Amino acid sequence: MSPETLLKEPLVEIAASPFSTESFDAYVMSTYGRFNIALERGEGCRVWDTEGREYLDFVAGIATCTLGHAHPALIAAVTQQIQTLHHVSNLYYIPVQGELAKWLVEHSCADRAFFCNSGAEANEGAIKLARKYAHEKLKIANPIVITAHASFHGRTLATVTATGQPKYQKGFSPLVPGFHYVPYNDTAAIESAIAELDKDERQVAAIMLEALQGEGGVRPGDLAYFQRIREICDEKGILLILDEVQVGMGRSGKHWGYENLGIEPDIFTSAKGLGGGIPIGAMLCKSHCDVFEAGSHASTFGGNPFACAVALAVCQTLEKENLLENVRERGEQLRAGLNEIAAKYPNIIAEVRGWGLINGMELQADIELTSSDIVKSAIEAGVLLVPAGPKVLRFVPPLIVSATEVDRALAAVEAAIATAAKR
Ligand SMILES: *Cc1c(COP(=O)(O)O)cnc(C)c1O
Repeated sequence: MSPETLLKEPLVEIAASPFSTESFDAYVMSTYGRFNIALERGEGCRVWDTEGREYLDFVAGIATCTLGHAHPALIAAVTQQIQTLHHVSNLYYIPVQGELAKWLVEHSCADRAFFCNSGAEANEGAIKLARKYAHEKLKIANPIVITAHASFHGRTLATVTATGQPKYQKGFSPLVPGFHYVPYNDTAAIESAIAELDKDERQVAAIMLEALQGEGGVRPGDLAYFQRIREICDEKGILLILDEVQVGMGRSGKHWGYENLGIEPDIFTSAKGLGGGIPIGAMLCKSHCDVFEAGSHASTFGGNPFACAVALAVCQTLEKENLLENVRERGEQLRAGLNEIAAKYPNIIAEVRGWGLINGMELQADIELTSSDIVKSAIEAGVLLVPAGPKVLRFVPPLIVSATEVDRALAAVEAAIATAAKR
């Protein structure tokens, strides 16, 4: 069959009967607390549910759909690459993987890239690279990676251990050894932790942080803190790993979150927005810490032609459509609007914060209302939002969002807060 004929035929038979949550829940594990709508179509910053209701999507697949839904560049890359070559393995050279690596290196502080499929997998790679570096270059027998409280690095065993939030680790012991946690944005705490850990024998190999904590409540990194962290890493010869999975790929208004902090990491990771919704992750590093050799690390799907072509299309569209400027302008508009709402509801809203198009609205600690309550009201008002913990609402729309859409979302958010305030 030619591709043209194929597109006319339904490829898989789905939805013979109307959608039901009961049937879904009978077959799918209940690992997610789902909101009660079923989505089936999207275009730009809008999505539609199975009942035909329209929503403004300020979740974007959790900071992932960089170009929104059904963007022409995404459709072109997906269809062209699937008709050309979709997967071969890293036993061979994959030209488009090289092109994507080149783009990432030319638009960051890194020298080389390794490709995988998710944020957790990228962070696993970063942790493995830091441990190998510690053994070979620093002669550390039991390397420790310091991470922050309220961080989020993924759900595999090593990355859930790296994640400084006990709620994600509960029930999964024994956790992976070699991690130590410190409060975020606290210089004195990290200095004393390193002094303590290295007292008898050198142990600290790396510090792993998010430039802005996403899941942990949309908390931007402090400039002075990160500058001191960079100095500490240079003084000790240890590695600074930045998890850019959520804040990277243009979301902060710059290509990478660290550009907002005036420092450069030795290693950083990307995923979420990198493929615009097609699974791909990357671990990038400077050449001085690239101690991997043939056989050190691998991933069957990692960097396949399909995922790389789509990610490259996302990267090129970022430039072509001048999206970083849009992110900065729409971000300012959104924060200004959220601050106006906050001023109207001081008993409910404590603070608005963020960079570019990753923003959080923190609720007052002493009220019963949770971020989930407001997200539910927002869905009723026609806008999708995602909590970042029990007290923070997160706003992470596609980077293509327009001024009109930001205004519409703000009106819906205000309505949702007004409704929630009355309950
Ligand atoms: C989402 C996220 C991850 C995990 O990414 P997955 O693709 O779900 O494995 C890691 N770090 C940060 C900062 C994230 O936001």
